[in-house]
Amino acid sequence: MSKKYPAAALWSRFVTSRMTTVGATPSSRADRDEQPPRRSCQDKAASRNRIPRKVAASMLAVATLAAVATGTAPAASAIEVQEPGVVRVDQQQNLVVRIAGVSSQDKFTLDFGDGSDWVRVFNTKCSPAKATRSPNSCTVAHAHDYAKPGEYQVVIRSGKKMVNEFTQVVAPAPQFGKEPHDQEHSWSTMTEAAPYFPCSTVTWFFNEAGQSADRAGTKDDVFAALELLSEYTGLTFVNTDDPQDADITYSWEQLGGPAGLGGRGRVILDSTIRWTTDQLAGLDVQEISWREGSTTWRLSTPGRGWLIVHETMHALGIGHSADPRDIMYAGPPQHAEFGPGDIAAMNTLYKSLPCPVI
Ligand SMILES: [Zn+2]
Repeated sequence: MSKKYPAAALWSRFVTSRMTTVGATPSSRADRDEQPPRRSCQDKAASRNRIPRKVAASMLAVATLAAVATGTAPAASAIEVQEPGVVRVDQQQNLVVRIAGVSSQDKFTLDFGDGSDWVRVFNTKCSPAKATRSPNSCTVAHAHDYAKPGEYQVVIRSGKKMVNEFTQVVAPAPQFGKEPHDQEHSWSTMTEAAPYFPCSTVTWFFNEAGQSADRAGTKDDVFAALELLSEYTGLTFVNTDDPQDADITYSWEQLGGPAGLGGRGRVILDSTIRWTTDQLAGLDVQEISWREGSTTWRLSTPGRGWLIVHETMHALGIGHSADPRDIMYAGPPQHAEFGPGDIAAMNTLYKSLPCPVI
């Protein structure tokens, strides 16, 4: 005999995606039935945060004075200033002023144009000899907080001499979705700011420990999922063999309920659940069947790649959606494609934003 297997019963295990502190017991309950708690998927134990929390709520502008001397004598006449590009108030875009051709004798005065006191920078660390020897490390930096978006006249002087003057546009932060859900698109964020800069490169490591033979194709699905997410976010994902170098680590565990967990810095897949086997590989809709006693169950569902997409989107700071069309819906997805809330979230946090000036 043949029956249609209730998809919700499986997906309730598939999509529960909590990430609390390491060692926390994940819920085995379908998270479509619960309000996803704010930051529930954030891995507080992750140490590799691209944006330090202490500055996450403020605006930061950094003026970097890169001392590059080509000889042993001070080269004040060769001072060059590279003007920054777009700056955003939520430190997604840092103001970077690079001044080359300075020596230890050069002193700069920075006026960021917002009424704050002038900042004097004494370039004592960078002797001409050191700047010649190691121009990349011969750098002094100054951080500056802008209180409001707007246009500011930045003035840089060396002594009484004007080095440069330019207008700096400081853009407002984008409006992230209000918890629990954005009114228009029903998506949400897990953090106050995206964990990665727009346009940045995110490295990932796949830990095969605990992976059974019938899940051997999982890493291929990670590649496919990240290729898709790269297209929609503008991020670049690079695989690394060095776990210490990874921004996101994929690993296997017996989760005792959910098929996957996603949080900042990590994605965990359940090592025993049917959903993570190669039977459901890929991003296409898959048809599977299996026998339990005298009953043959049949199921048609989006493939395992969408589990990896869902959990990786958590790692990118995106929370659950209330819209069943979305992959970030905390219930069985209906389609093997992104929904409007998924796309709005990725646009708002990443794709629509200018690249940082670094
Ligand atoms: Zn989830």
